[in-house]
Amino acid sequence: MLSPTIRRLSALTVNRIAAGEVIERPAAAVKELVENALDAGARRVEVILAGGGIARIEVIDDGCGIAEDQLALAIERHATSKLVDETLVQIATLGFRGEALPSIGAAARLTLISRPAGQDSAYRLSVVGGAVSGVMPAAGPVGTRAIVEDLFFATPARRKFLRSPRAEAEAAERAVWRLALAAPAVAFRLVSDERVLFDVPAQEEAARVAALFGREAAGVMLALDATREGVRLTGLAGPASLSRATTALQSFVVNGRPVLDPVLRMALRLAYRDVIAAGRHPVAALRLEVPAEALDVNVHPAKTELRFADANGVRSLVMGAISRLLDRPVSLGSAPTAPLAPFTPAAPLSSLSRPSGAPGLALRPPSYMPATAAARGFAEAELALVAPPSARQIAAPAPDPAHPLGAPVAQIFDTYLLAVAADGSLVLVDQHAAHERLTEERLRAEFLAGKVAAQPLLLPVVVDFAPLEALRLLAQAETLARLGLEIEAFGPGAVLVRAVPAALKHADAADLLRDLAEEFAESDVPVALEARLDAALARLACHRSIRAGRRLTVEEMSALLREMEATPRAATCSHGRPTFLKLSQAELEKMFGRRGL
Ligand code: ADP
Ligand code: MG
Repeated sequence: MLSPTIRRLSALTVNRIAAGEVIERPAAAVKELVENALDAGARRVEVILAGGGIARIEVIDDGCGIAEDQLALAIERHATSKLVDETLVQIATLGFRGEALPSIGAAARLTLISRPAGQDSAYRLSVVGGAVSGVMPAAGPVGTRAIVEDLFFATPARRKFLRSPRAEAEAAERAVWRLALAAPAVAFRLVSDERVLFDVPAQEEAARVAALFGREAAGVMLALDATREGVRLTGLAGPASLSRATTALQSFVVNGRPVLDPVLRMALRLAYRDVIAAGRHPVAALRLEVPAEALDVNVHPAKTELRFADANGVRSLVMGAISRLLDRPVSLGSAPTAPLAPFTPAAPLSSLSRPSGAPGLALRPPSYMPATAAARGFAEAELALVAPPSARQIAAPAPDPAHPLGAPVAQIFDTYLLAVAADGSLVLVDQHAAHERLTEERLRAEFLAGKVAAQPLLLPVVVDFAPLEALRLLAQAETLARLGLEIEAFGPGAVLVRAVPAALKHADAADLLRDLAEEFAESDVPVALEARLDAALARLACHRSIRAGRRLTVEEMSALLREMEATPRAATCSHGRPTFLKLSQAELEKMFGRRGL
């Protein structure tokens, strides 16, 4: 084979390649333009989006502007006014790579209209798919206006991978939300498809967090301020009672830059792990100031990832500060076991001697559940059973052979039912998990039969949200109406509840709606209606269900067991955990080493 000729790629091709990395999706273009506005010292930034930013993005600032003779350079690759330290250590600006404008210009139609103070008029420059027009005088105030139209029209390969305009809009809105949290001293206005999502003045950090996290979160968050080896942590963190279904209300800012950093996320999660139920997430707006030499921000072209020289130090700082805030010791222990926490066995279970070859905690799972779930379930059951003060024995009806789950004997920790079947098998039921599944199945049946009854509220309830959450929820209004939940917009950031599913008339409408909003926010991926309904059903069921910790009457216990027997899929809850464990005589004998496996 002939040795191939190596040729240089054209500037246009290079920029299109870079565009793929720097401007992955509309949200990235929005982020780059807003960062430029902040780097230009703007006191006020306005972002106007249309069609999720795919159709149009406009970012207007009142910053330092770009002089007429610099405009052409601004859109050249690797041209920047910002990088002063070529070792890349002292980076004081959000941008420094000189890649954003040429990348956007290569993939879209970009127009810059800019005027520095002291220049008579503004000047404009356009780049269409990489082709640059001449610089022309234009009308405009001091500052810069950047307009991006038809994003990715010149790079169809990328265009194909965009999600729905709604999902792209959400990601772009979130990018502005993050930057607005990072720069509270700058006024921000965000408009998407002609709706004003937020319009906030220059303000103190706490006020900005209040405005962008929603009023419910704002009132109860606690201020943080801690320093460790030159790294300072400030910001606000929610009390344990303010958990959410997703991490949507978490913001991390490092040296003024919004970041998605796994070290910080993990530290936050660990700090709350023993006080927040599994699957729930804390609410926090954290800000770190790190000495430039202890940080590398040049990890990825999008600059949202970074590397800490001392990740362990940062983790300890965050965990320590939040633990002090929550007034509890730092714990790196195993997963939370809330219902068992107060119990201290006289002899630690691990010290109980077992006959050699006996299975101990490594039990063989009963045939009806997966091995791991069973092992976990057993470990808990074993602990619970040796804690007599929390058990409540009841006068039990005699077990009927027709009832495989038997008759109730006791309620343990006000959370588990202990029952005995006619053949002597021992049955343990997690009352919340079981009831949740039953409710979900009932709601699903009602829904499939087209008769989910809505219960109109005598006094409609208004629920406050972060502005983006409210929109997300309202976008699902039709789906929710089919489930008996009727909502409508009530000004920016608020939703009015007119009716709730009749089955849920005793649930707290605000709580219910908040959980649903987060359920819908969980991913950027467009979720099929059916999956949404499923998620909504599971959430509704959870709200309707008997809480762990509620004392049940014998009649309630029996009713629960009988309904479980009659309901398909009742052996696991909607989260896939077992709802009950059953130990036959043979299994008990194996556990006690009376019989080989
Ligand atoms: P970077 O931000 O990494 O320098 P960009 O391609 O985003 O690279 O921008 C190139 C240059 O254009 C910037 O360094 C800055 O001098 C100028 N510029 C871009 N946007 C603005 C703006 N909104 N106001 C003032 N100058 C700007
Ligand atoms: Mg930039």
